[in-house]
Amino acid sequence: MQHILWFKKDLRVFDHQPLFTASKEASILPIYILEPSIWNYGDLSNRHLKFVMESLIDLQDAFKQKGADLFVTVGEMEDVFEHLFKTYGRFKLYSHREHGLKHTYDRDIRVKKWISDHHCEWLEFPSFAVARYSSEHPRKNFKEELLKQKIYPAPKKICLPEVISSILSNQLKDIEHFHIQGDLPLNGLHGGEKEAILKANAFFKSRYKKYNVYINKPYYSIQSSSLLSPYLTWGNISIKALQISTKRHLLELEQSNEFNHSQLKAFHQRIQWHCSFVQAVENDPLLHINSRDIRFEGMRIHDYEKLEAFRTGKTGIPFIDACMIALNQTGWINFKQRATVASFACNTLLLDWRDVGYVLANLWFDYEPGIHWLQMQTQAGLIPHSHIPLYDVIKQSKMHDPDGLFIKKYIPQLSTAPIHLIHEPWLIENNPYISPIISYREMFNMTKERLYKIKSSK
Ligand SMILES: Cc1cc2nc3c(=O)[nH]c(=O)nc-3n(C[C@H](O)[C@H](O)[C@H](O)COP(=O)(O)OP(=O)(O)OC[C@H]3O[C@@H](n4cnc5c(N)ncnc54)[C@H](O)[C@@H]3O)c2cc1C
Repeated sequence: MQHILWFKKDLRVFDHQPLFTASKEASILPIYILEPSIWNYGDLSNRHLKFVMESLIDLQDAFKQKGADLFVTVGEMEDVFEHLFKTYGRFKLYSHREHGLKHTYDRDIRVKKWISDHHCEWLEFPSFAVARYSSEHPRKNFKEELLKQKIYPAPKKICLPEVISSILSNQLKDIEHFHIQGDLPLNGLHGGEKEAILKANAFFKSRYKKYNVYINKPYYSIQSSSLLSPYLTWGNISIKALQISTKRHLLELEQSNEFNHSQLKAFHQRIQWHCSFVQAVENDPLLHINSRDIRFEGMRIHDYEKLEAFRTGKTGIPFIDACMIALNQTGWINFKQRATVASFACNTLLLDWRDVGYVLANLWFDYEPGIHWLQMQTQAGLIPHSHIPLYDVIKQSKMHDPDGLFIKKYIPQLSTAPIHLIHEPWLIENNPYISPIISYREMFNMTKERLYKIKSSK
């Protein structure tokens, strides 16, 4: 029986249990399938494809060094499987489990059916520390669960089958031209396992030293955050390996440097949130559709003009625009910025949280369905028994960008604006920036009152 390794959002060779297990067999066929129905669903964009392409190039290089290769194709799973079946007959499929939105879950159910109808086998290995909803015990402690799991070394040598199915190609360019929405960032992160290791090493060497000092600072956090999130999302690095490395560095710092230890500890706490958020979409694959608090349904609107002004950073409110321009250009902004822009769009512009969610998912490189959609519902105040995070954008701007360095970096029209007015340029006699699409203070107070009223209603 042919052994086929199906890469999904796990584009690496180190600590890859399906690869490790399959490599014990005489030959394996490593494949990546670009599925149009998944890529055109609406939450993914061109920048994700770019990141995946770079990851695949790196992965292919790793396979070549092990005497093998990586093969790709574009198509829906059942069609690709039919071709593979014609070439190899019954086969055994190895993959990680995916924890995503309903359409990816449904695709996996279809794969399971096809495999069973054709008397093939599918070995699905756990991803992260996430438990399969309803069939496995819910996890109490994701960190302990991860630390219990083994690390799987990359196999030294891999043998390919003698015949390669004609539906597959080792020319990665064959999938690069797949058409998908969205612009590429001007400058941003590059995908791949090697890049992930470089980023992790640079973080542990020195970047982490100001991790918590700069965590909310838009101008500085790009220098002190790990920037590892896209590498975790696309599986260029395993969360388990990252957890173990962080723990090792923490132990080294424990005796030697209290301040540095506190900075890395803050990072350690955050990476532990990852799995609990991914668990949220495993438990509720309609997290992007069903509002957790239906009392707010109907109050937010579909306003594509305002949504477009928000997306392109043209609201006239400098902090929001600078964040969105930075995001368009780089594919990354920090947590506080994400929370502020999401809350502004959902709670002040009163845009439908799902519309805002798609815009932002398309823009950040690290779009991870569980984290993203749970955060969108959180920022829109839809989590029962939790407050509505209403950020006063002007206050945030003055607090986290007091000298306007971040605003000036992304909005050159404001480079000579007086610092005390840069956050509210409409107060300058001749506003050098575009007029705001809303009267901010009035709108903020009005929507705040409406949202609080709903939140406190029975
Ligand atoms: C509206 C909104 C949407 C978001 N969407 C995503 C998303 O799609 N993908 C994503 O990875 N993060 C998302 N986040 C969480 C967070 O902003 C990013 O994880 C973080 O900014 C990524 O940068 P970093 O890798 O430098 O993070 P670091 O601060 O260095 O943290 C390291 C890792 O810890 C985890 N982590 C950190 N903060 C959080 C958090 N608040 N919740 C869950 N895990 C966290 C992530 O895996 C992250 O890569 C979102 C936040 C908000 C408010």
